[in-house]
Amino acid sequence: MTFSKPNYTRESAVAVSAVREAAVLCRSVQSEIGHAVIQKEDKSPVTVADFGSQALICRMIGNAFPEDPIVAEEDAQTLKDPPNEDLISDLTRRITAIRPGVTTDEILSWIDRGNARAYTDRFWTLDPIDGTKGFVRGDQYAIAIALIIGGELTAAALGCPNLPLVMEEKTHVGACFFALRGEGTLAMPLEGNSAPMRVRISDVTDTKAIRFCESFESGHSSHQATGKIAERLGIAADPVRMDSQVKYGVVACGDGDAYMRLPRGESYQEKIWDHAAGALIVSEAGGRVTDILGNPLDFTYGRKLTKNRGIIATNGHVHDQILDAIQGLGIV
Ligand code: AMP
Ligand code: MG
Repeated sequence: MTFSKPNYTRESAVAVSAVREAAVLCRSVQSEIGHAVIQKEDKSPVTVADFGSQALICRMIGNAFPEDPIVAEEDAQTLKDPPNEDLISDLTRRITAIRPGVTTDEILSWIDRGNARAYTDRFWTLDPIDGTKGFVRGDQYAIAIALIIGGELTAAALGCPNLPLVMEEKTHVGACFFALRGEGTLAMPLEGNSAPMRVRISDVTDTKAIRFCESFESGHSSHQATGKIAERLGIAADPVRMDSQVKYGVVACGDGDAYMRLPRGESYQEKIWDHAAGALIVSEAGGRVTDILGNPLDFTYGRKLTKNRGIIATNGHVHDQILDAIQGLGIV
């Protein structure tokens, strides 16, 4: 008797379509200066685009795979309590421009479709706008979704609306990366019908030549710690600071060799939606992703990477040298 390998091409196609649709809304919001930013309970910023992107993506995943839980960042309660009528009507207006005829209640129910919390054998995790601070500043941000089955990253789509992608000698602003476990990473423009191209990590092995990226926000990742690592390894180039999982996209396509995320303190635990999509996109492009101790990322603990500290994502060739430098400096 033969067993055929499970095939997740439908999941991949739905994830890509969902990210591309959400990108239309995110781009239109970012192009308008002065849109409202509200603060969540944890003081992190959120905009109409975070909710709109989550609504559109949860609608599509929910329709295609009604049994699948979605662990998403946002919660419609933030809109309802205290009632934020202006934001809700702006949200409804923007969603109906893309999905005519839907009601506010439907939109709120799509957002709530992302309320799963616990680990399950098969679930999606979604960051509707990763890097909201970058989004609000007019810089980089990402739309990130991943499917996790049996604790393993299985499919991912990562929309990077402000990242240039060079294809057939033409530069497109806006890249969509997607990956299926065991099948590599592809990229295509966020818009249009160009056929996807395969992306691969860089072949840099000399630590002095490493081009690394890190968070723009020094509150999210210690710039001081990466500075010490760079000094120890003799890295010549300055870090490229950018928001969101776009950093994983940069490493996956070989435009950077490493992404370092060094914890600022003991207490912060990384959220699964900030890393799931990016981690599969880098590893399927031939790279390696671990925490700063060299442990694989463990997505089986609910909403957080409870068992991990920080993140190192590289082309694989320079990974151990970075981990050794971290250990040698006593950062862990
Ligand atoms: P980045 O754009 O790479 O700086 O990452 C953005 C993400 O950082 C957000 O989606 C937050 O979930 C996450 N974040 C917020 N506070 C912290 C923190 N203290 N340490 C690490 N990540 C954080
Ligand atoms: Mg995020």
